[in-house]
Amino acid sequence: MSATSISLPFLQRDGLSLAGRRIALAVRDRKEIAVMIVHAHDVEQLCASLGHERTGDILDGFFSRLQGIARENDLVERIGDRKFVVLLNGLRNRGHINLAAKKIQRLAKETPGRHEDEPELSTTVGIALCPLQSSDASEVMRFAEIATLNGRHSNQSVCFFESDTANQMIVDWGMERRLQTAMEAGNLELHYQPKTNIQSGAIAGAEALMRWHEPEIGPISPEVFIDLAESTGQIAELTYFAIQNACHQLSDLRGTRDDLNIAVNVTPSLIRDREIIDAVKSATSIWGVDPRTLTLEVTENALMLDREATHDILTELREQGIRISIDDFGTGYSSLGYLKDIPADELKIDRSFVMGMLDSPDDFKIVKHTIEIARSFNLGVVAEGIESEAMLEELRKLGCDYGQGYFICKPIPPTEFHEFIKQAK
Ligand code: C2E
Ligand code: MG
Ligand code: MG
Repeated sequence: MSATSISLPFLQRDGLSLAGRRIALAVRDRKEIAVMIVHAHDVEQLCASLGHERTGDILDGFFSRLQGIARENDLVERIGDRKFVVLLNGLRNRGHINLAAKKIQRLAKETPGRHEDEPELSTTVGIALCPLQSSDASEVMRFAEIATLNGRHSNQSVCFFESDTANQMIVDWGMERRLQTAMEAGNLELHYQPKTNIQSGAIAGAEALMRWHEPEIGPISPEVFIDLAESTGQIAELTYFAIQNACHQLSDLRGTRDDLNIAVNVTPSLIRDREIIDAVKSATSIWGVDPRTLTLEVTENALMLDREATHDILTELREQGIRISIDDFGTGYSSLGYLKDIPADELKIDRSFVMGMLDSPDDFKIVKHTIEIARSFNLGVVAEGIESEAMLEELRKLGCDYGQGYFICKPIPPTEFHEFIKQAK
């Protein structure tokens, strides 16, 4: 495996929108699907011997051929320059799924016009089963991704997710040590996804989203490594690293836009521990940042775990001026009663509802009512996962305050974010 990372000129997308929506629909309709992540590897070697353009054509060609063999109810989506997701409907038997995966791999190798000296396009396929292993779209995608990583490490070209794979992964691959090294060596980076004021169109701030490019493995999804950090006890260090970096970014923006707000995600376990109060105080004072420009995003489940402790800590953070946002609102199993005395400033509507709002009347109602709930409890409201102008327009009509999504901008590295802010000024 190559230790270098290259930037390829072709498609650069991160997102699981179409596949995510399809999985959610399949779950609703009680259908069984196999979720496959197909990861093309040795792309650096292909580029080195054939050049970027030919490599790009080979990957594009593979994607078209994949689409060509999909059955009517299957779905093929490209989710990265070298990553694809395939959803297979109605295949219960692992043997059949395995055969389908092998067919995909043959297809990858069969580049039309390939000279016999040219390297082949090799792939690893990771598979998770829905709803057998999870009926949550992002979780089942994450499981398939873990299976891909596991396959690459154990030299299996097709790998099914097993529930203890994640734990195995930590032990077998020294992931804990790799994560530590990443924090020290700077392989962990925050990307920033701009947030706009939907009513005025002005940029209001950004959400900081962690990215890890592991030199030997490649990019690892935050949903995988955040879980990993939770289980290895590294989550506090990782979160404080994010808070420090976000404050650094805010201080860099001083003079350009003093009013921008940056949001950092904080896992529920940390909101029960008073250490977060000192960590935030120290980061804002080191970087000379106005606490009102920092938001902490916590999921609604965090508020349910240890109600009293969480409540006190959030209240204290708010007294310092920090804003609190309730992330993924609507996906938890909490009663709405907690809204009565919620120590928060805003609700963030989960992207699954926003992404479905134009196709599903139920999702539309959830979005509309969440905006109304936020209004009646004097909370701000943010919609995430805005993928089209039509969604943005609908949210504007519904009176949503802020928006974030690929239609506005994807998460981008700090330098690009800085440019984005300057241009938008
Ligand atoms: P989140 O906090 O709900 O973040 C929003 C996720 O939605 C991000 O995924 C973002 O890239 C994605 N997203 C934004 N706009 C769109 C869109 O228009 N369409 C689609 N399909 N997706 C969109 P990402 O970066 O993969 O992060 C996933 C989750 O990982 C985050 O969900 C958050 O829970 C967690 N995470 C990321 N960074 C951190 C971190 O620094 N600390 C902690 N504790 N969690 C983090
Ligand atoms: Mg968030
Ligand atoms: Mg969210």
